[in-house]
This record gives sequence, C-alpha cells and structure tokens, in this order.
Amino acid sequence: MRTLFSPEHEQFREQVRRFCEREIAPHYREWEKAGHSPREFWRKAGEHGVLCTTIPTEYGGPGGDFLHACIVTEEMVRVGANLGIPVHSDMVSPYLLHYGSEPLKQRLLPRLCAGEIIGSIAMTEPGTGSDLKSIRTHAVRDGDAWVISGQKVWITNGFNCGVVLVACKTDPAAGAKGVSLIAVEEGTPGFTRSQPMDKIGLKAQDTAELFFDSVRVPASNLVGEEGRGFVYLMEQLPQERLVIAMRSAATLETQLEATIRYTTDRKVFGNPIIGFQNTRFKLAEAKAYITMLRTFVDACAAEHMAGGISSEKAAMAKLVATETMGRFLDEFLQLHGGYGYSAEYGIGRAWVDARVSRIAGGASEVLRDIISRNLGTGAA
Ligand SMILES: Cc1cc2nc3c(=O)[nH]c(=O)nc-3n(C[C@H](O)[C@H](O)[C@H](O)COP(=O)(O)OP(=O)(O)OC[C@H]3O[C@@H](n4cnc5c(N)ncnc54)[C@H](O)[C@@H]3O)c2cc1C
Repeated sequence: MRTLFSPEHEQFREQVRRFCEREIAPHYREWEKAGHSPREFWRKAGEHGVLCTTIPTEYGGPGGDFLHACIVTEEMVRVGANLGIPVHSDMVSPYLLHYGSEPLKQRLLPRLCAGEIIGSIAMTEPGTGSDLKSIRTHAVRDGDAWVISGQKVWITNGFNCGVVLVACKTDPAAGAKGVSLIAVEEGTPGFTRSQPMDKIGLKAQDTAELFFDSVRVPASNLVGEEGRGFVYLMEQLPQERLVIAMRSAATLETQLEATIRYTTDRKVFGNPIIGFQNTRFKLAEAKAYITMLRTFVDACAAEHMAGGISSEKAAMAKLVATETMGRFLDEFLQLHGGYGYSAEYGIGRAWVDARVSRIAGGASEVLRDIISRNLGTGAA
C-alpha cells in the first residue's frame, strides 16, 4: 500500500489511466514505427490536463504538484509508453516557470500546457555530454538580440519541438559561470534539425540533432540571468533524477506482474514456467528488491514534496533504480524465452528502452561520483 498520494491524486490517476489506455496504447506501435508521436496527440494530452501538471493555472497549466507529474509518468509506464512528455512537462516548463521573465512565461507556458508546441532542452553536444561546462555552442549579444551558433545532439522532442531551451556559452572564458539558457522557437532563421535519430530503443520518442547557424533571437529570450544557466540546470537535476527513479520503479512493477502472468500461463515440459524453483526464486528476489526500491523512491518523493531532495539522495535514487531495473528486466526477459526477444511483447521493449536511463540524466558513474563526495563526512 502506497501512502504517498491523496484521494485527489488517485482520482487524477484514474483520468490519466483512461487517457493512456484510449489515446496512447492503441497507437503506440504505429508511433514507434514513425519514430515520433503526432502533434495532434500532444494537443489532446493538453486538453486532458496531462501536460505540464505542475504549472499554475494562471499560465494555462492544471496547477498540480510533483506527485501529479509522477502519476503521468507511472501511468505511461503501465501502457508501455516512453514519450518525451517528462522532458516537455517536468523539465522545459519548470525552467520557464522558475527562471523565465514574465513576458516569456506568458508567451510560452500556455502553449506548452495546451500541447500547441512541444518543448525540448538542449545541453548535449557531439563533443561533450557529461561534462556540461565544456559545451561550445555560444551566444553573442548584438544590440537587443542574442546570436547563437553551434550544434546539439541527442535532443529529446528535437524533431517536433516548437521551443528549445539551449544551453549556450555567453562567456566562453568563464567555464560553468559562462553558461546561459536561451529559448529558441521553431521557424527562427538559421535553426534547423535532423530527422529523428536511429536509436536502438525509445522508438516513439523523437530524438534529433539541432543546428544553430547565427540564429538571432530577442534578448528577452534569455531564461533568467546571464551566466546562471549551469546553476539552474544543477538546481533542477535532483527532481529530474527522481522522476527517472520513479519511472524505473514503475517499470519494474509493471514487468514483474507481466512476467508472473506469462510464466504462470506458459508451459514447458508439461509444467508452467513458474513451477521451476529457479523461476520462483528469481521472481521472489525481484519482488524483494522492487519492494525495497518502491519504499525508498516514495520516501524520496515525499521528502521532495516537503521541501526538496538533496542532489546526493536523488543521485542514490536514480543510481539504484536504474541499475536494479537493468538487472531484473534482463532476468524477466530470459523467463519469456524467445517471446521476450519480440518487439510485440512489452518486456522486450521495456528492456531495450531501459538501457538509456543508466546513461542520460547523469551516467551511473557520474552519480557514484556525486555520492562519493560525501563519504568522508559519514553523512547517510
Ligand atoms: C535517448 C537519449 C535522449 C537524450 N535526451 C537528451 C536531451 O533531451 N537533452 C540533452 O541535452 N541531452 C540528451 N541526451 C544526452 C545525454 O544526456 C548524454 O548522452 C549523457 O549526458 C552522456 O553524455 P555523452 O553521451 O556525451 O557521454 P560521455 O559524457 O562521453 O560519457 C561516456 C561514458 O563515460 C563515462 N563517464 C562519464 N563521466 C564520468 C565520470 N565522471 N567518471 C567516470 N566515468 C564517466 C560513463 O560510462 C559514460 O556513459 C539524451 C541521450 C539519449 C541516448
């Protein structure tokens, strides 16, 4: 029994569940083949209050809290969907809400909430990912405009985005203190993108390369203060990592249930697969780890709701959740035999989709590094 959610949250969960079953599940395989989800879907998601759940009503959002965002993530996992909604709703929109100027918020947030435009955030470049302060995309001030030049890669929603928050160097000599965030809108001359990249998983989530060739945007498109971009990104990272941990726990629960069903129904050598002690032990061990994981990530979410989770705790949650997911999804796939290797079965897709979460949003090695910084203090 989870105690995290209020009755109002559970009511919202029911609505989101119906939305996912009706508007995502029947079309998802088609979107995987297309390499992205249609813009029409995003507008429907906006109409149903599934996007930008934490954005206040004055900016066109549903005015919910972090737990509403978790519910959307968990319900998408339930139907086996991995779309770019968390990036749009839980990264791009909060950056604008927390740091954007009033005119920028008024202009962009209502359209993001309605799904009229899709949001991306572009940090990674061909030459650097984990080491964000080494980015080379730069923006130069020219009168009342910023002129941006550079290239980004692996940008979720990049192919379809209506607005992208670009991490740029506005003072290349200042290292992390020279990074700023600037909003670039679709159609701005000099801003182009690739076709969706050919990934091994997350097939319905478009990921693109973005190119900025002397892209001129109004000075007011700067998000927050010049030179504070790195600080803003670091401030939001714990929540983003917690969302990944919540998604991983939900994926494990969903796939454990699916594997119990499959191994109960499927017979080999005249017996259900779950009849083998090997299967029961593997599933029992998975259940124990998943129960522990659920308790920890829900406690982290409660802590986050009560005032914010530390970067160390968020790193622990993401590290343990994604590594545990990698381990047990592999075991679950094994128990499905050849059918586990079919894209028709949820476990195969979950297995391949899960792999990236040990890399993006902070590679496991980077997370270990963060956690190791506090070892000397004895703090747990
Ligand atoms: C599907 C997908 C979606 C993505 N979406 C976005 C997006 O929307 N926006 C965006 O900006 N980026 C996005 N990314 C990029 C992602 O954030 C980067 O891939 C990630 O930050 C790692 O950077 P990199 O790929 O350059 O790897 P590198 O930084 O080159 O790291 C490679 C490997 O080196 C090791 N390593 C790195 N740092 C350390 C360390 N400190 N100690 C020990 N070992 C280390 C790790 O094993 C790591 O996996 C996405 C990536 C993928 C695959």
